[in-house]
Amino acid sequence: MKFVGAHVSASGGVYNAPINATQIGAKAFALFTKNQRQWTAKELDSKTIDKWFKELEKSKIQPKHILPHDSYLINLGHPETDARAKSLDSFIHELERCEILGLDRLNFHPGSHLRKISEDECLNNIADSMNRAIEATKGVKLVIENTAGQGSNLGYKFEHLAYIIDKIEDKSRVGVCIDTCHMFTAGYDIRTREAYDKTWTLFDEIVGRNYLMGMHINDSKPELGSRVDRHDSLGVGKIGWDAFKFIMNDERMDDIPLVLETINEEIWADEIKALYDLVEK
Ligand SMILES: [Zn+2]
Ligand SMILES: [Zn+2]
Repeated sequence: MKFVGAHVSASGGVYNAPINATQIGAKAFALFTKNQRQWTAKELDSKTIDKWFKELEKSKIQPKHILPHDSYLINLGHPETDARAKSLDSFIHELERCEILGLDRLNFHPGSHLRKISEDECLNNIADSMNRAIEATKGVKLVIENTAGQGSNLGYKFEHLAYIIDKIEDKSRVGVCIDTCHMFTAGYDIRTREAYDKTWTLFDEIVGRNYLMGMHINDSKPELGSRVDRHDSLGVGKIGWDAFKFIMNDERMDDIPLVLETINEEIWADEIKALYDLVEK
C-alpha cells in the first residue's frame, strides 16, 4: 500500500502540519519542525506537544509515514571544524525534536564540500557527524537524501550514499530518501520501463532497497543529468507521468512516506489523487 502526501506548512505550530495534510487528502507528509532558515528555535512546549499528538491522531497518519526535513543551514560535511560542529549541534537538536514528537526518521541533505576539501574528505566528515549524532540521540533514523549534485552538494551518486552508510556504526539508525527530481537531474533516468528498472536495480545493488525510508515525488524542470535542482509539478516537467506510474506500482515504495515537493501547492490534492489513480488494481 502506498502512503502519499506533501511537504506541508507547519507555520503557526507543528500541529498545523497534520491539519494541512488532512485537508489535501494526504496519507503521509513532510514538515520542518522549526524554521528551516534559522539556527535556533524555541523549545517545544507541552501545550504544542499535546496539540500535535491530538491532531496527529485525528489525521490517522502514522509516524512512520511522516518525514520531517532538517534545516537548510546544516552542513554535516562542512570543511571547517567549527562550522561543522555548529551544524552537528543543530542536527542533534532536530533529532531530539523528532523524538519528542514521536517521529522515527529525519530527512537531511548529506552536505557540501564548498570546493575546499575533496569529495571523500567531505563524505568522511558527513559519516563522522552522523555517528556522533546517533550516539547523542535515541531511536530516530537519519535519512540521507540523494541530491541533484548542484554546486558542491554531495549525495548525487548512489555510491556516495553507500559510502556514507558503510561508515555508519549503527546501521539500524540510517536510511535513504530518494527524490525523483534529484535522481533524474543527477543522471539516473526513470522515464521508460527499461530505464526505471535499470536505475532501481543499480540502487538495490549499490545502496540496498532495505535502506529506502522515504521518497520525494517531484517532476523536474531541467534535463536528465543537468545537475540542477528545480522541481516541477507532476507530468509537466521532463520526467513525465510514466515514472510516477512505475513508482505507484512498485512494492519497494510500499509503507514509506511518498512526499510531494512540487511547485504548485494549490494542486497538491489533485496530484495526490492522480498518483493514487495510477495504482493498477
Ligand atoms: Zn527533496
Ligand atoms: Zn530539490
